[in-house]
Amino acid sequence: MKVYIETYGCQMNEYDSEIIRAILDEADLESTDAPEQADVVLINTCAVREHAALRVVNRIHEIRRLPNGARLRLGVVGCMATGLKKQLGGNRRLPVDFFAGPDSYRRLPGLITTAAAEKKELYAAELSDFETYADIYPLRRGGVNAWIAVMRGCNNFCSFCIVPFARGRERSRSPRSITDEVRRLAADGFCQVTLLGQNVNSYRYEQHDFAALLREVSRIEGIKRVRFTSPHPKDFPLHLVEVMAEEPGICKHIHLPVQAGSDRILKLMRRTYTRSDFLTLVEKIRALIPGIGLTTDIIVGFPGETPGEFDETFSLLQEVEFDAAYIFQYSERPGTLAARKYADDVSGEEKSRRSVLLNALQNGISLKKKRARIGRIERVLVEQAGTRKSRAESQGHTDDNHLVILQEGNFTVGEMVDVRIHDATAHVLKGRPPL
Ligand code: SF4
Repeated sequence: MKVYIETYGCQMNEYDSEIIRAILDEADLESTDAPEQADVVLINTCAVREHAALRVVNRIHEIRRLPNGARLRLGVVGCMATGLKKQLGGNRRLPVDFFAGPDSYRRLPGLITTAAAEKKELYAAELSDFETYADIYPLRRGGVNAWIAVMRGCNNFCSFCIVPFARGRERSRSPRSITDEVRRLAADGFCQVTLLGQNVNSYRYEQHDFAALLREVSRIEGIKRVRFTSPHPKDFPLHLVEVMAEEPGICKHIHLPVQAGSDRILKLMRRTYTRSDFLTLVEKIRALIPGIGLTTDIIVGFPGETPGEFDETFSLLQEVEFDAAYIFQYSERPGTLAARKYADDVSGEEKSRRSVLLNALQNGISLKKKRARIGRIERVLVEQAGTRKSRAESQGHTDDNHLVILQEGNFTVGEMVDVRIHDATAHVLKGRPPL
């Protein structure tokens, strides 16, 4: 049987699809990239934003309309496996054969087999306090970077976020299982690893914290760069920044989601830090690692966010001057504290106005910061031959996570190269070999 997997959402979901592929491979279920040739289709879903549910429902119907659609076994896996049914209401039947939540991937071979015999939907969506898939070596598609989850779940319960409900409580993998996997990745030709967790600062395994783990991973032979995502600003220890400063293999970039610039909104979001705590943290990080790349996430239009409170987010962006900011309009997620307690009372029009304003501000900041690099020599890890625009170009990232389009040279994927930056937009740098 051939299985086609379609993945939505964040890097954790991409990584989970690689785990699923490994589990299915072990059960002699082959992967295909073409849904028309598949006997089984799995849709790995994201529950973080509202429109994702609708997209998945439309996609399920589209897949059922393929020439092979009526006979194939269709499963919804990942974060929406339980929530989707509730969201649709009890009476609406989706043409799905089975659902498997993020802690039930080991049951997929059984579900796929049973789905053929049973005529009713099958569910495996229980959350586990222990599952980390530590013993499974994900079936990756190759390339330069490998994702590796060091922990799963989240205990923070930010009021807007569905993750603790969809992915359960925090649990960390043993450092031994992680370093063994990274050594194997290096032997398989990967030269960069990105450590993943819903909140990596919560990583704990016996005496090991995240800083100790990061240092250990960065010293593994063959691994040129280590990245991680995402930390929570509430518990970012300074000794982690010191480890980042000391270890050349750890990339000098932190994605630090601030979400809002107003103390009242941060409190309603249950972020447990204030604007001033956040600004102090940024100052300390920049003092220890001057020039570090900083990026963030922002939510606009959180329930009750007044124009004045939005202005505080605007001014925070002006003050910090992040290298990039990902701006999202608030959408209510069923079951979260915000959905239960607060009215989603900022209009769609106002949310989009606020997001346009922030994007324009950030684009200006990003462009200014990128243009300041013109003429500089930057070290880039070559990650991909060919770009969307040209097969003659290559692309990669700087240590502090700026995307660079590499032009006018022969670049080998996996190599570190020095290029001179000769052009920049708000989103990319362009470089060529220095003369
Ligand atoms: S830290 Fe907050 S936003 Fe991040 S996954 Fe946990 S609950 Fe969601």
